[in-house]
Amino acid sequence: MDLILLLLPVAAASGWLAARRSMRQHQERQCEADMDSAYYRGLNYLVNEQPDKAIDVFVGMLEVNSETVEMHLALGSLFRRRGEVDRAIRIHQNLIARSTLSADQRSQALLSLGNDYMKAGLLDRAEGLFEELVESKRQLQPALTNLKMIYQHEKDWQKSLEVSQRLDLLGGKGEGDDQAHFLCELAELAIKSDDEAQAESYLKQGLEVAPLALRPQLIMAGISEKRGACREAIVRFKQIADQHPNYIGEILRPMAECYRRSQQQSQWIEWLREIYANKRNIQVMLEIAHELENSEGADAAIEFLTSELANTPDLNGIHQLISMRMAQQGEHQSQFLQMINQFVERMAARQSAYLCHRCGFTTRTIHWQCPGCRSWGTMLPTETK
Ligand SMILES: [Zn+2]
Repeated sequence: MDLILLLLPVAAASGWLAARRSMRQHQERQCEADMDSAYYRGLNYLVNEQPDKAIDVFVGMLEVNSETVEMHLALGSLFRRRGEVDRAIRIHQNLIARSTLSADQRSQALLSLGNDYMKAGLLDRAEGLFEELVESKRQLQPALTNLKMIYQHEKDWQKSLEVSQRLDLLGGKGEGDDQAHFLCELAELAIKSDDEAQAESYLKQGLEVAPLALRPQLIMAGISEKRGACREAIVRFKQIADQHPNYIGEILRPMAECYRRSQQQSQWIEWLREIYANKRNIQVMLEIAHELENSEGADAAIEFLTSELANTPDLNGIHQLISMRMAQQGEHQSQFLQMINQFVERMAARQSAYLCHRCGFTTRTIHWQCPGCRSWGTMLPTETK
């Protein structure tokens, strides 16, 4: 239906142009007759609900000039939206080939052709066009926004960062947060190449552009932990727990390891209990049970879990409780309990731990860039009680 609606003015414009031409150029009678015949042929296709054929006829009739450029651009973007990218590309290429276009019209056509190439997955061609636009400082914001998407797809984080910085200067929103992620990607590459100093420099830059960002802090704490600087790592992990309490599940394991290595087991349990008193987080509950089992034995851990689960039932908690009970039974494990525990484990494994607040995508583990909508930092833990 939208195609028919668009084609009606196209048909009208074609007819009008044909009529005008006939007034101006009496001597070109033959051409006039051809145009009239094409016009009626196109209308006939339209009336007979053959829009594809009508399109070809009308587009063929529409000469590219200052009066019809907008029409070509509108038709091209309509084809792209309908998924007919080849047709959109032909229309936009045809436009760009004309020397009569103004600089503005040409840059608009280049942007549209770049969008066609992106939709067709021809990213290298799209990249070339958007870079040409940026070079000529035309259609700067959309060209930079598209380049940012392409560079991210190519995992070229340095270029993604530079483009985001330019968008920032143009007043783009949320660029600081994206830049922190690009710097974290660069930092992770530096860590892989054993260049810790370079990684830390990227992370510091990340915290300059997004002071409260979780990811640079998390990577920094991880670097301290791997370096064996346990006290420094603990300070950093605690800061994360203060600023991002919902993400506490991401730091419990490495934090426990730091406390263990610095032989501060009692301080670790004390800290866990303090955190748990403020916010009854399931992962903290499981960690306390784990520590109780190690320090005071299974009975203490089972008693703690039983009383906590009575208030806050949770599948992972029930799984841990049954596992502890079964371990106590040793060789005389109840087969029934074993079966129930397998069911509970399977149910728990189906639960999502993270949810994208922008598109609703759910996953078991954290993704810094949502696999669904490609946004950065939009995955939130599902347990935010
Ligand atoms: Zn998403």
